[in-house]
Amino acid sequence: MSSDNLACPSTSDLRTQPVAALDKEGIGPAMTSIPMIACSTSLSEHHSGGSGTNKNKQMVEQLQRYGLISSKKVVEVMETIDRALFVPDGTPAYVDSPMAIGYNATISAPHMHATCLQLLEENLQPGMHALDVGSGTGYLTACFATMVGPQGRAIGVEHIPELVASSIKNIEKSAAASLLKGGSLSVHAGDGREGWPEHAPYDAIHVGAAAPEIPQPLIDQLKPGGRMVIPVGKIFQDLQVVDKNLDGSVSIRSETAVRYVPLTSRDAQLKGY
Ligand code: SAH
Repeated sequence: MSSDNLACPSTSDLRTQPVAALDKEGIGPAMTSIPMIACSTSLSEHHSGGSGTNKNKQMVEQLQRYGLISSKKVVEVMETIDRALFVPDGTPAYVDSPMAIGYNATISAPHMHATCLQLLEENLQPGMHALDVGSGTGYLTACFATMVGPQGRAIGVEHIPELVASSIKNIEKSAAASLLKGGSLSVHAGDGREGWPEHAPYDAIHVGAAAPEIPQPLIDQLKPGGRMVIPVGKIFQDLQVVDKNLDGSVSIRSETAVRYVPLTSRDAQLKGY
């Protein structure tokens, strides 16, 4: 099973059976409760005409049609930030699958981006602070920045300096460029397991790589009332939702089973884990 090939206009069989939310190439699929659309042709093949922006809109419409996005704000932001600007040249941008971005990393599948945006939506309101750990291509950091707006703060932390540089170039081409220029969006090279204390506490923390356990600095940098979404585990991983209560205690629940690349050291990642 794979989670590729989102769009299939002739196929309306929305399958709710467990499917792959595969965020790492080369490993078998993890079982998830996320519904998928099974078909053999991709969105880009069905909609070969039209601009990138139109195709991006069609991808978002398909995700909505198949019940993978229900939030209006998430629709808006995913329509605003064109995914094609964030995938490497020659990579199919609008297929619902993770794609390799080099350095043993991937850009997550659109349905996983949608899931994380929806889980964090209440904590991505204008003026809020968001941290994206393992920001990779910068796609979600750009989405977060767009949602929190110029009065807010969106920080990406990524430990591969080349990915930091390319993510900044991607963002510069996107609708979030003015936020980068204005300083409410920034991407930094660093070990995301330490968070980014400078702009803490955060209303929203997203971790785009799987941690064996939740790093304490990230819990510490979460604001009371804040929410973190983090894949936790080694081979079998859960997407965990960590809510910091107003008294400082935390409540943790598992949203779904997933498979992401590990949150690890740069050396381990470059050696192939
Ligand atoms: N969410 C991003 C990337 C997901 S891949 C996207 O969709 O584009 C996970 C990313 O986490 C990779 O880019 C990897 O280099 C990064 N990463 C892994 N361990 C890290 C660490 N300790 N600190 C910072 N980044 C890390």
